[in-house]
Amino acid sequence: MGVSRSQKPHVVCVPFPAQGHVNPFMQLSKLLLCTGFHITFVNTEFNHKRLVKSLGQEFVKGQPHFRFETIPDGLPPSDKDATQSIAALCDATRKHCYEPLKELVKKLNASHEVPLVTSIIYDGLMGFAGKVARDLDISEQQFWTASACGLMGYLQFDELVERGIIPFQDESFTTDGSLDTNLDWISGMKNMRIRDCPSFVRTTTLDETSFICFGIEAKTCMKSSSIIINTIQELESEVLNALMAQNPNIYNIGPLQLLGRHFPDKDKGFKVSGSNLWKNDSKCIQWLDQWEPSSVIYVNYGSITVMSEDHLKEFAWGLANSNLPFLWIKRPDLVMGESTQLPQDFLDEVKDRGYITSWCPQEQVLSHPSVGVFLTHCGWNSTLEGISGGVPMIGWPFFAEQQTNCRYICTTWGIGMDIKDDVKREEVTTLVKEMITGERGKEMRQKCLEWKKKAIEATDMGGSSYNDFHRLVKEVLHNDVV
Ligand code: UDP
Repeated sequence: MGVSRSQKPHVVCVPFPAQGHVNPFMQLSKLLLCTGFHITFVNTEFNHKRLVKSLGQEFVKGQPHFRFETIPDGLPPSDKDATQSIAALCDATRKHCYEPLKELVKKLNASHEVPLVTSIIYDGLMGFAGKVARDLDISEQQFWTASACGLMGYLQFDELVERGIIPFQDESFTTDGSLDTNLDWISGMKNMRIRDCPSFVRTTTLDETSFICFGIEAKTCMKSSSIIINTIQELESEVLNALMAQNPNIYNIGPLQLLGRHFPDKDKGFKVSGSNLWKNDSKCIQWLDQWEPSSVIYVNYGSITVMSEDHLKEFAWGLANSNLPFLWIKRPDLVMGESTQLPQDFLDEVKDRGYITSWCPQEQVLSHPSVGVFLTHCGWNSTLEGISGGVPMIGWPFFAEQQTNCRYICTTWGIGMDIKDDVKREEVTTLVKEMITGERGKEMRQKCLEWKKKAIEATDMGGSSYNDFHRLVKEVLHNDVV
């Protein structure tokens, strides 16, 4: 007689293949693992190779109830240790990933080594995975890994076209004040200008891949039978209420990294830093130890942002001229085109107070008492991690819904200031000094600590995120273990 098949509920997790999506998916998967699920985590072949490079072959073997699987992403093969083009990925995954994922799920169901697949949780940008679930008659859930305000921003694309606001006639919109037009009709959103919408609205044509893909995927997301968001009800209440009026089945379970504190012992040796695609430099934590509380500037633009060499130099000299200590994460692929070295006179100037490296354990950095301000591109994970660490921010959004997050950071939440797109060193110096030593910096730090408290409360037993997570597990994923 054969060994009987495990009855554990089995969730297949399908993140969009970029660091800022893989991370929250890994956090959610680990929580589900700890609550009694069997997990299959689906990376693209490209990202799987990078995971092997950064965390080792042993790590990707997983463990009995946590397995990695791969599908091709549909892009030409590459061995680069860098983020792929997001527009190209959106397009390619939509066109080429349906069949490989369907075959994978069929293979899992045919294998007696893993339980039958009971659910597919897929990224808000991977709508094809929902179709796989429906076609195989498996329950499906969306996981929108970005902010609720970002989601609402994407949902405005059609309206902006209907109102004749976009596409812009020509490139003069970038300088003639058009971007400052107020948008007062968005339900659940205040203080919004065109420049605060997801960056893809800055276009003179409606044929841009990102504009099309993100617009479609956001609308598809709203049609899902359940939507999981890595946010806090209290932080985005107005916009969430407006979204829930369209689809009440929204589960706010963020910040996931804080929710994770309830499962320390059950996480049987599964490495905490389970999804870094770059190698971590942990020495920067010891370097931070030598500085006074709230005195260090932490600079990190996430995994996708690229900038010109000119902007890089403006940031560099802006930091140097502040005379303050800083930890600067400069990915090898941060500068567009040729990789650039920082000027020697800059390196000499900052050698006693600047630590420059290519990747760090960001959550740990943002929880370190020495960090006083976070110069960020306002990616949603970074924003949540900044709030969870109680660190006020200076925003220099790059693309997508980072512009919307930045607006909320600076207005609704009152925890930061923004830098102009065309960054200049004087502005960098003034802002970092204000945030570390000035009155406004103090006020924003205080405000951020208040939000941090709310984030902890939301993830405490009985808090809004804690309750939504358990509701999700019981009502949607039908697991009565918890
Ligand atoms: N991250 C990190 N170390 C770094 C830079 C980034 O661990 O040096 C992590 C960060 O903690 C976050 C993710 O990478 O979880 C970046 O996601 P985010 O949404 O902030 O931005 P994206 O990279 O998607 O633009």
